[in-house]
Amino acid sequence: DRPGGPKKSTLATIQAMERAREERRQQMEARKDRKEREKLSNAEKGVVGDVDFVRMISAWRDANKDQAKPHATFSTNEAEKNAGGAICICVRKRPISRREVNNKDHDAVSCVHPSVVVHDCRLRVDGISKYLNNQQFAFDHAFSENEDTAEIYRCVGGPLVEFVTRDDGRACIFAYGQTGSGKTYTMEGVQARAAVQVFQELSSERSVGVSFFEIYGGRCQDLLRERARLQVREDGRGDVHVVGLAETPVEDAESLLAAISRGNELRTKQKTEVNDASSRSHAVCRISIRDKDGKQRGSLSLVDLAGSERGQDTRSHNRQLRTESAEINKSLLALKECIRGLATNDAHVPFRASKLTMVLRDSFVRPRSRVAMIACVGPSVSCTDHTINTLRYADRVKEKPATQLLNA
Ligand code: ADP
Ligand code: MG
Repeated sequence: DRPGGPKKSTLATIQAMERAREERRQQMEARKDRKEREKLSNAEKGVVGDVDFVRMISAWRDANKDQAKPHATFSTNEAEKNAGGAICICVRKRPISRREVNNKDHDAVSCVHPSVVVHDCRLRVDGISKYLNNQQFAFDHAFSENEDTAEIYRCVGGPLVEFVTRDDGRACIFAYGQTGSGKTYTMEGVQARAAVQVFQELSSERSVGVSFFEIYGGRCQDLLRERARLQVREDGRGDVHVVGLAETPVEDAESLLAAISRGNELRTKQKTEVNDASSRSHAVCRISIRDKDGKQRGSLSLVDLAGSERGQDTRSHNRQLRTESAEINKSLLALKECIRGLATNDAHVPFRASKLTMVLRDSFVRPRSRVAMIACVGPSVSCTDHTINTLRYADRVKEKPATQLLNA
């Protein structure tokens, strides 16, 4: 060290200041980290990609691999219809994605038809011992990642297309679930197959028309006419009309598919332009079967619902997003009640509670109505909480209301 006190003390001061700054920075990081960790759910605290959990889940699967039952197709036969027979509740699990694998996320959902098991990975309070809190549900169908859309269509879509073309039925298929769970993938596959089968089943006295619209923030807009604004009105007889909605007549499967693709393209385009708008809207693709006089006979509505997590983020700072979330929440709750009403033959289906249920009124209250719901779930452990929420929703839809249980 060179002599010259002042210099040395300057250096020491600088070093002390640097140490202090580094300490403050570390404290801040630690605080930020703590805050981040508090925000994470239990499933995300160090369980993603954990080899012990992966091993436990795979042992569970080995022990249960022969339990899956064969799928039965949805029976729309009136004679076979028992209580709850007008609805069909399915779960579809999509395969794990490349991105999830890269993020070391792992698969924590097992579909063993008719059961779905969510392997909720947990740490005991000691913070070391690990255990699986397996949550089990059962539905009309549990489709695993190995079952393709053709199989889902065979069980659910096909019987409903027959029902609307041959029996003048009103049917509705909903895709419910978190954004990224496979709703659009599933519905586009169903749309394509339905478009072909409708024309195979159609009798010569009937014609087909297609309409496609979207409900966004409680507003209704036409997807076949550049989002022209539509009004929903109920007439004196209680019929609901979507005023201004264009129905495109189609002569064959190709032109039906072309019209549907146009609507889907408009939605996909917006997905990249506006911040996540398509995950905040419900899309209704309706295939109408009409008689010679143009009177509607049968109809099949294929509905790609808004992301179920969107109804929950009501704490956003953005006022518009908050309003939209409340609207989505309201419509998904109303939908649940309406499907339950149809299942139990309830005379008071609360379809007026939201725009979505209003425009689908026919599917809930006519005597010849059927509803199928496909609850889509992702496989990854990091979305366990959302997956459980989706399964609980689907479970409550099929559940008979308490009053019904008491009478039985
Ligand atoms: P959502 O409409 O619920 O937001 P998407 O249908 O867009 O979800 O699916 C998210 C991603 O996962 C897409 O890239 C889609 O292609 C893929 N995907 C979804 N379901 C399946 C499936 N069953 N098999 C293969 N890929 C799927
Ligand atoms: Mg989608």
